[in-house]
Order: sequence, then structure tokens, then C-alpha cells
Amino acid sequence: MITRSLQLGSSFYPVVFLTVLVLFFAVGAARQFFSIRKKVIIVSCNSVKEMVSAAHSAYKSLHPEQSFFPGQIINMEELYSEGLLKEYHNCPNGGAYMINRFGNVFCTFHEYKEQE
Ligand SMILES: [Zn+2]
Repeated sequence: MITRSLQLGSSFYPVVFLTVLVLFFAVGAARQFFSIRKKVIIVSCNSVKEMVSAAHSAYKSLHPEQSFFPGQIINMEELYSEGLLKEYHNCPNGGAYMINRFGNVFCTFHEYKEQE
């Protein structure tokens, strides 16, 4: 009886130790994955913003009288129909692109707080 409980004990602790170790690395890997994913989304949003910003500048020079004003969501359809955007682009998190009070394009999802 004593021998049996000792055997159970000797195999039980390494299993617990390995399980904890695996969980520890799994949690670390998951956190790293989500951190990288978040960075990729922000980089993607920034590249869309650059394209929209360039298209918006071109639109302003073509139509100075009907340019987008601060606080207005940029009409992607308008930029697309003018041939200033090759295809529709959106923020990966569903943000909209707006003009801030300095006349710069920003994403309502990723940069909203910076504009206040
Ligand atoms: Zn965004």
C-alpha cells in the first residue's frame, strides 16, 4: 500500500509540473500572438490612412470648394469614383477615417484620443 502511494506520488508531480510549464508557455505564446496581431492591425490601419491621406490631398486640389471638413468622415466612395483610390480600404478594426482640426486624416478607432 505504501509502495503504491509512493509510485503515484512520483509520477503525479512531474505531470503537474509539466502541465504547469506547458500552460505557462501557452499563455506566454498567446499573449505574444495577440500583441503581434495588434501591431499588425495598427500598421495596416496606418498604411490605409497614408493612402487615404494622399487621396484626400489630391481631392482637395481637384475640388477646393467641396473638400472634406474637420469632423467629417471621409467619403471613400467619392475618392474611389474620382480614381484617387484604386480600391476600397478600411481600418481592420472598423474605424472610419476623418479629418482632424489640423486638416490631417486620422482613424476614429485607433487614434481618437490623440485628437482631443
Ligand atoms: Zn484604424
